Amino acid sequence: MALLDTDAPALPLGGPGLPQERRLITDLPGPRSAEILARKADAVPAGVGHTVPVAAVAAGGGIVVDADGNSLIDLGSGIAVTTVGNAHPKIAAAVAAQAAQFTHTCFMISPYESYIAVAEALNRLTPGDFAKKSALFNSGAEAVENAIKIARKHTGRQAVVAFDHGYHGRTNLTMALTAKSMPYKSGFGPFAPEVYRAPMSYPFRDGLAGSEAAARAILQIEKQIGADNLAAIIIEPIQGEGGFVVPADGFLPALSEWCTANGVVFIADEVQTGFARTGHMFASEIFGVEPDLITTAKGIAGGLPLAAVTGRAEVMDASHAGGLGGTYGGNPIACAAALAAIDVFENDGVIERAQQIGRLLSDRLRAMQAADPRIGDVRGHGAMIAAEFVDPQTNAPDAALTAAVAKAAIAQGVIVLTCGTYGNVIRFLPPLSIGDELLNEGIDIIAAALAAS
Ligand SMILES: *Cc1c(COP(=O)(O)O)cnc(C)c1O
Repeated sequence: MALLDTDAPALPLGGPGLPQERRLITDLPGPRSAEILARKADAVPAGVGHTVPVAAVAAGGGIVVDADGNSLIDLGSGIAVTTVGNAHPKIAAAVAAQAAQFTHTCFMISPYESYIAVAEALNRLTPGDFAKKSALFNSGAEAVENAIKIARKHTGRQAVVAFDHGYHGRTNLTMALTAKSMPYKSGFGPFAPEVYRAPMSYPFRDGLAGSEAAARAILQIEKQIGADNLAAIIIEPIQGEGGFVVPADGFLPALSEWCTANGVVFIADEVQTGFARTGHMFASEIFGVEPDLITTAKGIAGGLPLAAVTGRAEVMDASHAGGLGGTYGGNPIACAAALAAIDVFENDGVIERAQQIGRLLSDRLRAMQAADPRIGDVRGHGAMIAAEFVDPQTNAPDAALTAAVAKAAIAQGVIVLTCGTYGNVIRFLPPLSIGDELLNEGIDIIAAALAAS
């Protein structure tokens, strides 16, 4: 079904059947989106915000279509979720088949094979050649909560260390682990106790080698907490919401070695970096670390809500029977979607595509940086690349410029996300199903917006 050029378009096909072109029929929001967003303002609390002022009706390849028939270029994948492409046909088919078979039994009541198959796949695909087990949950935050529960039970210790600029979710414990107050934490306390923060390696801003940044963090942990009290450290191998901060080489291995030497569980939060996003199945591989536990979610199931904790069998088995679970965790429809997505990740060249996209994005952004010193840093791996905007004289973060560029790009039909503790980073997280043409057009529009700002 082609997208009709009228003011009341027929609902187009999702997935790769959508025409792969940016096309604005109206200003954004168009009249139908505006009507739906007015209902949102009445029915949904103001706390639930939105980045792009449209109501989506279909998406696929590198395109999101809105209720007025506008086609937008997707450079965000719904925050790194639709990595294999929105409404991927294999996932849509797997979901439909499972929904017709059974929708729920609760894995803790009557287990089913697809959950176990997802666990087996995670145990096989995650870094580390040791015996592993996996438990499934609904969201990234829930996976992080459970990783901490498991680490505490395994060690008999309570303290947990998270890092500057870290993001781990919006539940009470994960708010405590998250660094940034606005908008994630402000006014929502008190927060969970026994959470401590250590300095991150942020090469663009601290200029430290990985070993130096690790020594700084470890000294602080030893002096302020004490290894004997510490259950776990949790860290994103490349930080997501905090600004796509890529730690200096050697930082993560030094932390991981210190954890092993001190009986501390090393948890890699790969909720954003996992599943081919960085041009590797997991970002831990880039840095040569084998975490004791890995949390995953976002890219795992092509958009269905699913999350996991995967790790060393002896750590994962620390909990008493019945200690882990949840009504919906590992829902059969989400598991069917994950198995289809994993099939795509393993067999359809997705990792190679992430690497190609990474080269295209970083080449283009580095060329822009060479011409405009307000781009202070370009960093990332694979299809997880960011540009940090600064005052070229002082390197001070320029959040206003960042917001202006993002807003102008969105108005032109390019879905682009910002991030960073200082709000001065534009991040690129396109679906790996996007074509080079759309990707280049999206960057052209962002470059023009920058030139005009
Ligand atoms: C998004 C995210 C989370 C939280 O996941 P939800 O599914 O939103 O609960 C946790 N950790 C990281 C690194 C994330 O990017």
